[in-house]
Amino acid sequence: MTSPATATYWDAAPAERTGHVTVIGAGIIGLTSAAALVRSGRTVTVLDAHTEVGQGASLANGCQLSYAYVAPLAQPGVLAELPQLLLSRHAPLKIVPRWDPAQWRWLLSFLAACRSRRAREGSLALLALASLSRAETDAWLRDADRASLGFSDHGKLVVMPSEHAMAQARRQMALQAPFGPVQHAVGVDACLDLEPALHELRHRMAGAIYTPSDCAIDSAALCRDLEMRLRARGVQFELGTQVTGFARRADRIVRLETSRGHRDVESVVLATGAHSAAVTRQLGFRVPVYPLKGYSLTVPLRDPTAVPRVSVTDAARKLVYARIGGHLRVAGMAEIRGHDHQLDAHRVATLATQTREAFGDAVDIGNATPWTGLRPATPNSVPIIRQSPVRNLFLNIGHGALGLTLAFGAARRLVDALDAALAPTQGRPCLNPAITTS
Ligand SMILES: Cc1cc2nc3c(=O)[nH]c(=O)nc-3n(C[C@H](O)[C@H](O)[C@H](O)COP(=O)(O)OP(=O)(O)OC[C@H]3O[C@@H](n4cnc5c(N)ncnc54)[C@H](O)[C@@H]3O)c2cc1C
Repeated sequence: MTSPATATYWDAAPAERTGHVTVIGAGIIGLTSAAALVRSGRTVTVLDAHTEVGQGASLANGCQLSYAYVAPLAQPGVLAELPQLLLSRHAPLKIVPRWDPAQWRWLLSFLAACRSRRAREGSLALLALASLSRAETDAWLRDADRASLGFSDHGKLVVMPSEHAMAQARRQMALQAPFGPVQHAVGVDACLDLEPALHELRHRMAGAIYTPSDCAIDSAALCRDLEMRLRARGVQFELGTQVTGFARRADRIVRLETSRGHRDVESVVLATGAHSAAVTRQLGFRVPVYPLKGYSLTVPLRDPTAVPRVSVTDAARKLVYARIGGHLRVAGMAEIRGHDHQLDAHRVATLATQTREAFGDAVDIGNATPWTGLRPATPNSVPIIRQSPVRNLFLNIGHGALGLTLAFGAARRLVDALDAALAPTQGRPCLNPAITTS
């Protein structure tokens, strides 16, 4: 018998295929959903508006498989920072108010989620999903070419700017300790022993939380790997196909209208990231998924020995650094400003300056590639994985800042939701029930 430590992803797959599912969205969530659906014995077609997979938020994100650092963005401390979030031009988390009821509704729910009890519940729900995701991701990677995916498992350091931040981080660590991976609170010297390349940050560091088991992977390369291996398993890809409408009979979708004509469907999975609210509005219900705009730089290395091997989060600046092959991926910033895809030159310059301050001439900042993407965020950071009010439509949306980390686990929960819908007496699994019918 295969043990969980050696099982590959497909070990449990049945030989026979029953039922067909159309997945809308070929980001990391749609692709992992397709993989889990195939493994559960279904045939699958994946549609995406882009002509290649992984071109939305999954393209140039922070690359961190952050299984241990899952605290929701909504925390009690955020309330005290509200004036700064609204007024400061350069804060890493920034609210730009719009004449957009969806933004106000989302912000009100976000503020409600800042209560300690809600933040604690969110942390524990995300930790459980991250743990499942780790097992599933490891199984997928067992027969993958890890080097070509930029995979590394050197652990992660979350660098704290003050004793106050360290005390908060220790509390979060204690909350997670019974359920999550091993973590250590380390002082400045121990942090620099673990990662000497952080010496320039020394003067603004009070210590760090070290998680030896956290990993990093190139998200875009993982999306391409999923596509290649899913095609080999018979998954059909219809790329360059925008879904524009739905034909319904009673409480079921019978046909999708797309930029390339109609397509009849049996079951549908929505994995449309930050666009999800616009899609479900057409179907008469609301989901609290709002874009949280972020930026990244992909920076060539000049001196790899002077750039971290360990994944790093700079908690004060809300920046993450991950080594992907011969490059450093720097990602951060969160702007609540709607569907804005503009690459703001000031934000890019801030990222470049901060990276140069941290690693000097070891990085070739002049040849960095900037990028911006929209995290599909729910107010409490917990994704929505469930059957929708439309009976044959299932949701796998709202993975916010952790989509890459949670993708394989979320896909498994999605299959649980499909299986339960076919055997209704067993109850309906549902992570984050948040849906409003309009
Ligand atoms: C700056 C930044 C840094 C990040 N860093 C990390 C990190 O370090 N670790 C981590 O775990 N996560 C990170 N994330 C979060 C992660 O990238 C996202 O959670 C994840 O990519 C979401 O995947 P998705 O598949 O839901 O969305 P997407 O990748 O955006 O995919 C959605 C797809 O749906 C398609 N689509 C939408 N509507 C339609 C339609 N009507 N018809 C056809 N196709 C449609 C789109 O074209 C798109 O391809 C980061 C995100 C950002 C922006």
